[in-house]
Amino acid sequence: MDAEWIAFTAGLKPAIRRTADPADLDRVEAQLRATGAVVLRAAQTALLGAREQGVLYVARSAAHAAALRGAEEGVLPGRGGAGDPRASHREVGRLLGFPACCVEAFLARLDRGVDRLAEGGPTGLAEDYVAARGAWVPAADARVNPLLMPVRAQLVSFYPCRYDCPAAVALAEALRASLAALGAKTAASLMALLSRPVAIASDGARALLALDESGAVVARAAAPRRSDGVSDPRDASLAASLTGARVAVGGALDRAGPAGLPVWCVDFGARALPA
Ligand SMILES: [Zn+2]
Repeated sequence: MDAEWIAFTAGLKPAIRRTADPADLDRVEAQLRATGAVVLRAAQTALLGAREQGVLYVARSAAHAAALRGAEEGVLPGRGGAGDPRASHREVGRLLGFPACCVEAFLARLDRGVDRLAEGGPTGLAEDYVAARGAWVPAADARVNPLLMPVRAQLVSFYPCRYDCPAAVALAEALRASLAALGAKTAASLMALLSRPVAIASDGARALLALDESGAVVARAAAPRRSDGVSDPRDASLAASLTGARVAVGGALDRAGPAGLPVWCVDFGARALPA
């Protein structure tokens, strides 16, 4: 199940962005075109991690797709640098249908450096860790869990400003309901995965947790798995170090990751969800 595609076809998103290996780009583009969507290709490839990726913009109108491609031209990951990055990111977020509050929170991180905590300290931290520390709330809503995107378990495709952001939750809930209407079992198993507490380290390694009855001690930890069963080795070694760790009230674990910063726990299992 591809939640992004379902969100687009259900009208919950005005446009989506697709990335693919350059060798696969023609095939993916043709597949998307065959659905009747308008598809435009970025002039340059992006660098995601160390991987070169082709970027496709999928929309219902040529004007929307062209506006999205134009807005991202100066801020393509690993390229860009031209124009006004703030204005470009704001426009990309708007054209992809992301909540304005979540885009503004991203821009605030961009201003100080996305690899640095709001309170300062070292740079070079994983963007997911910095975003998670900023969005943390005691009872996070599983529907806006963005931390399992690497294993393709997600309802949102942006960083929520808070893990209970009403605008983000409303978007995610609409998509959850669409998924459930298409396949109740698949939607329920996605929600079961998203509803687990997640630990994230400052290098971006992450693990799924089971907490003990007190909610203050890690009973078990496991690396998230992709649908083919493969886990990131960094996630596996983080998980192996977390059993018995204590979770403080603010989310910090008594385990330090790289740069001496504590591993952080976000409890996406603390809230009841719609059935
Ligand atoms: Zn928000």
